Amino acid sequence: MENNIKRERLKEFYFKIKDCQLCELYKSRTNFVFGSGNANSPVIFIGEAPGKNEDIQGKPFVGQAGRLLDELLFSIELERSEIFIANILKCRPPGNRDPRIEEINICKNHLFKQIEIIDPKLLCTMGKFSTQLIINTSAGITGLRGKIFMVNSRAVLPINHPAAALYTPSRMVVLREDFQKIKKVLGMKGKLTDGIENIEDLEVVDYSSSGSTLRAGGDESSISQNKDEQLGLF
Ligand code: SF4
Repeated sequence: MENNIKRERLKEFYFKIKDCQLCELYKSRTNFVFGSGNANSPVIFIGEAPGKNEDIQGKPFVGQAGRLLDELLFSIELERSEIFIANILKCRPPGNRDPRIEEINICKNHLFKQIEIIDPKLLCTMGKFSTQLIINTSAGITGLRGKIFMVNSRAVLPINHPAAALYTPSRMVVLREDFQKIKKVLGMKGKLTDGIENIEDLEVVDYSSSGSTLRAGGDESSISQNKDEQLGLF
């Protein structure tokens, strides 16, 4: 897809869902947090939901965890403007509680549409919720992180959530190691399925038959299309 076409499609999708009221979380949000970054990114970083600062600013990954993410990106010679970041939920759960299954099952279609439009080489899932959603498992993040999962010919790399690593030195160590794997995957030429198995120290798991089809769906009939104040985000 032409680069500017992806950007236009993403903007169009933003307009379509920015006033979403498909679950109860719209009632308590300050801002809808669509995601931000480059529509032509080779990787989408996926978190779980906006926190307090994200809700206030309308942007994903601000505050301490955001600064850590910036530092980790810098360590692999990337900047925010080159990648795309989104959460499963676009509205903050009150009190920063965990997302509920029913909320994820409604809002995931927004994320899947973003993935379809951007069509990145790699999905980097941050933490338990996005990992379990994308690779369709109930396993915990500890046993999954750092492995490459091939889901429908797309690579998925689960990593610890930066917020969880902030105060846990052991998690920070493996987070830094896992970022180096991002660099290796993005550095590969051509289709990942053609050569990813040949990279030493990358453990590859074929999850193509997991049933995680990453297709957008659901009823978007109540989503309105209004003017935007987040155009600069992508
Ligand atoms: S489905 Fe997503 S975007 Fe819509 S109200 Fe719920 S959390 Fe917000």
